[in-house]
Amino acid sequence: MYIDGKWTAADSGKSFDVTNPATGDVIREAPDGGAAEAARAVEAADAAFRGWSRTTAYQRSSYLYKAYQIMIERKEDLARIMTEEQGKPLKAARNEVQYGADFLLWFAEEAKRVNGEILPSARADQRFMVLKQPVGVVAAVTPWNYPVSMITRKVGPALAAGCTVVLKPAEATPLCAIAMFEIFEAAGIPPGVVNLVTALDPKPVGEVFTSHPAVRKLTFTGSTNVGKMLAGRASANMKRVSAELGGHAPFVVFEDVDPDHAAKGGSLVKFLNTGQACISPNRFFVQNASYDQFVDTFQARVSKMKAGSGFDDAVAIGPLVNQAAIDKVERQVQDAVSKGAELVTGGVALKSNGLDKGYFYAPTVLANVTEDMLIYREETFGPVAPIIRFETEAEVLAKANDTDYGLAAYVYTRDISRAMRMFEGLRFGIIGINDINPTSAAAPFGGMKDSGLGREGAKEGIMEYLETKLGGFSI
Ligand code: ADP
Repeated sequence: MYIDGKWTAADSGKSFDVTNPATGDVIREAPDGGAAEAARAVEAADAAFRGWSRTTAYQRSSYLYKAYQIMIERKEDLARIMTEEQGKPLKAARNEVQYGADFLLWFAEEAKRVNGEILPSARADQRFMVLKQPVGVVAAVTPWNYPVSMITRKVGPALAAGCTVVLKPAEATPLCAIAMFEIFEAAGIPPGVVNLVTALDPKPVGEVFTSHPAVRKLTFTGSTNVGKMLAGRASANMKRVSAELGGHAPFVVFEDVDPDHAAKGGSLVKFLNTGQACISPNRFFVQNASYDQFVDTFQARVSKMKAGSGFDDAVAIGPLVNQAAIDKVERQVQDAVSKGAELVTGGVALKSNGLDKGYFYAPTVLANVTEDMLIYREETFGPVAPIIRFETEAEVLAKANDTDYGLAAYVYTRDISRAMRMFEGLRFGIIGINDINPTSAAAPFGGMKDSGLGREGAKEGIMEYLETKLGGFSI
């Protein structure tokens, strides 16, 4: 763990195993911290806040820029740690490291663009000034599916704004977090400004994050259940909250597009990170006339995808995170098939060809999926593509919006009026129109409804870490 500028073990001396999900092998151990270490880290961050919040935006920018440069130098090492610890193919890991580094660069720039305002007053003897100031100590909780970029997406804007941070990474991926904090250290960021607490059991650390009086903001990325619970506790103690939670993205294909082109895009985005992404399509709605061709092309592409170790260049499908993830996927597939879905390809856990020690599930396509199936409502977070037939635009808009989630949605159409109507009508925070990658450090990322609160990245991202202060001056 990294607390107040020092690398430390857990107070108890205990550590926990970090395993490779493709092989089950133990890679290394990480310190098993708890409430005492979390509280010490919060106090170190609180003490460091006084100095850090008074640095100039230009100074904070250069620390972030330095961290960005080191991250790019260490890109290959970080990508390899990620593939070993999280399982995604090496090429995807490299892309994630680049995406993660982009947040440091972006917020190195945004640090210098935090402007206040002078407002007119109705009183001739009064002036109003609005000042933006850092909120204070930020507690951050990050997930295992994007174990590097979810750290920089929070730490970048927090440091740029003048906040200090205590971060708890997911118990499955502490090694990526340790490697990132080595970069912050190498960039010369002063002691206490960024702190890392690793733990096998997240609950005691979560308790400190949501109750310690010095914490002013909680930023969380993870499941909707945990996010709601932590957000509730933190906001009961009047801490600011941002939360980036689950999704259930619709992927809508109208019959005015080439179904093969849409199937190519859909199969690429669905199986990224083995479906373990909050913006992963969870329901493919395909219009009547295109349905059969879409299913055929989609199936042909998916059945060629190879599963295995992310270090094998030919592999597109890495392991799932753990057995519980396999069980959830199996339950959803069995439920759908028992209610009449057609299993087009896949539908089994993969055990042969050396995959028996990892958590592999075949890339799966289900056709004729209907509203009564679990997969129609539950987030899958795995390599299963359910396909649903529709008739009209009004019908598909209503169905796409009929979910508690509201993170990403995708629409394929060549009709510009329809594209605009869908863009405006979908109740989701991120809409890809003929586009399967509507994400960038420069673009606001976040969801509506049960998908969360606040936005990350973009110019909005830094606002989540700033207070607004009003000055009324009588002259
Ligand atoms: P997933 O189901 O995808 O693993 P989680 O929401 O459980 O998602 O995990 C996301 C992050 O939330 C991880 O860092 C995890 O350790 C953390 N987390 C889970 N439960 C708690 C909790 N009770 N208190 C604090 N953090 C938690």
